[in-house]
Amino acid sequence: MRAIYPGTFDPVTYGHLDIIKRSSAIFDELIVAVAANEMKRPFFSLEERVELLRKSFLLPMSGVEICSFHELLIDFARKKKAKVVLRGLRAVSDFEFEFQMALMNKKMNPDIETFFMMPDETFSYLSSKGIKEIISLGGNISAFVPAVVEEAFKKKYDAIPPQ
Ligand code: ADP
Repeated sequence: MRAIYPGTFDPVTYGHLDIIKRSSAIFDELIVAVAANEMKRPFFSLEERVELLRKSFLLPMSGVEICSFHELLIDFARKKKAKVVLRGLRAVSDFEFEFQMALMNKKMNPDIETFFMMPDETFSYLSSKGIKEIISLGGNISAFVPAVVEEAFKKKYDAIPPQ
């Protein structure tokens, strides 16, 4: 069974990596799909987000593909012949949005099922938004993201220091 794990991944955190690790042990093939998501005005470019995900794995994960997409998720899932969309559900606050998305997707393409995974309790509080807030205030994020992500922030901030 082929599943697709979509997200903005701006940037990838240990929470995302935990979902990828656990789900890739369940599904035969996992497509980690980075959404262009221009409306969210991501901090990292699409290419950077894909690159950071790729570099987050010390060894290539068998059965895991990392790619980007610009179209509607259901269209991309259809193109990739994936029947399952995988999402993480951290807290009650995630539920409302995820519930709407899953039902809208179901309406548009009834063949695709959305599966939800609970985060590992160690990562349940982690969000990409939180990481960006901490780093913009000069905090340490090394417990939350792989070293490559920390370095990428440093590189960006060396070019344009945070306001
Ligand atoms: P999106 O913009 O699609 O919400 P994110 O990159 O923030 O994208 O998250 C992608 C998916 O990963 C979402 O389903 C989100 O709930 C899940 N996720 C994010 N952080 C965590 C975490 N710490 N633990 C488990 N799942 C997470």
